[in-house]
Amino acid sequence: MKMIQDFNFKGKKAIVRVDFNVPLDKKTFTVTDDTRIKGALLTINKIINDGGCLILMSHLGRPEGRMEKYSLKPVLPVLEKLLGKKVLFADDCLGESAVKMSAALKPGEVLLLENVRFYPEEEGKPILPETATDEEKKAAKAEMKIKQKEMAKKLSGYAEIYVNDAFGTAHRAHATTAVMADYFPKDKMMFGYLINSELAAMDKVLNNSQHPFTAIMGGAKVSDKIMLIENLLNRVDNLIIGGGMTYTFIKAMGGKIGKSLCEEDKLDLALKLIEKAKEKKVNLYLPVDSLNADKFDNDAKTSVTAADAVEDGWLGLDIAEKSIKLFSSVIENSKTILWNGPMGVFEMEKFSKGTTAVAKAIAAATSKGAYSLIGGGDSVAAINKNGLADKVSYVSTGGGAMLEYMEGKKLPGITAIRGE
Ligand code: AMP
Repeated sequence: MKMIQDFNFKGKKAIVRVDFNVPLDKKTFTVTDDTRIKGALLTINKIINDGGCLILMSHLGRPEGRMEKYSLKPVLPVLEKLLGKKVLFADDCLGESAVKMSAALKPGEVLLLENVRFYPEEEGKPILPETATDEEKKAAKAEMKIKQKEMAKKLSGYAEIYVNDAFGTAHRAHATTAVMADYFPKDKMMFGYLINSELAAMDKVLNNSQHPFTAIMGGAKVSDKIMLIENLLNRVDNLIIGGGMTYTFIKAMGGKIGKSLCEEDKLDLALKLIEKAKEKKVNLYLPVDSLNADKFDNDAKTSVTAADAVEDGWLGLDIAEKSIKLFSSVIENSKTILWNGPMGVFEMEKFSKGTTAVAKAIAAATSKGAYSLIGGGDSVAAINKNGLADKVSYVSTGGGAMLEYMEGKKLPGITAIRGE
């Protein structure tokens, strides 16, 4: 497989799938967070500095057909500023302008194509009326597959090299993230720097970790993280569970959880995970105390109880002091740390302490030489909010993609380029 750092783009035209799915201000349509654009700069600059020319493609949001509010145009001034040069824009990724502009590109020039999801064939999902019969659905799906290939083939014709650097959509088998790889020879496609660094960070944690290895899982539901937890139980020394999913475990063990979040249909599963942790000799840490609220509100009355003694009518919304101490000490004595999911309803100031404490403990462990990988939108937000992004080892840009990779799944965007 070709590696971008060893490749010389001089005189070559590359089409690069990036993840410019940035948040926009609802009124002014300006970019409110440019992290994702910055994430692609290494790859973009490498190609320009080598003397190649490049065509950038991305999705933004979930448009249904062409919808101007999902245009990539607002990205243009931000990208121009970051690159310090003019960027061309084609207002339709498959239209005549895109064909002509990409054909006319000169070395060092950059062309951004309009949102690839303005075409349903990008995702390959047919838009059907609810009344469609199974037969109609099957036919529409088959037709859409053909159209998706046509789209991938057309875009592939714009350039001689294909680079995928959109880690955030690597778990999707879309035209621009995976199908396009069918139209390039093996030695003419590669990952960009961002995907390479994401893969390196995940592989380090999964396959090359130093011990003790601690995984911290939080967030709302166990059901979203079952497969990840199962896969991690084969690798970690310590598993810390916090957040809403705590209470399903506590209830499964016979504790009282009041009105806290609970997935009744996952109680058996929680017990199985506890058993599996024992079998694998993994230390499972659940919160020992809980910060409870009388309503789901930042102005709620609060109480602290043992995590298995939440009063009737109350909801556990964060871990409390004893758990913070316990979790922090486990984290600070670890050599490898993976964190996914907040310890409480961190969006509300009153219930953000547990999450902030975990973020700080991870930074402290990292300063003592641990390797720390943070993934998932909320954990990343907590790290950023506390100004700790440069105090942890790696902050992943892809929530869903990272989860799936760490679960052990094959990601279409990755396998397509690796040729697996
Ligand atoms: P997830 O997307 O599964 O990682 O869940 C993130 C969400 O979980 C955040 O919006 C948190 O507010 C929420 N969350 C964390 N702890 C709790 C809790 N104890 N009760 C209800 N929601 C929670």
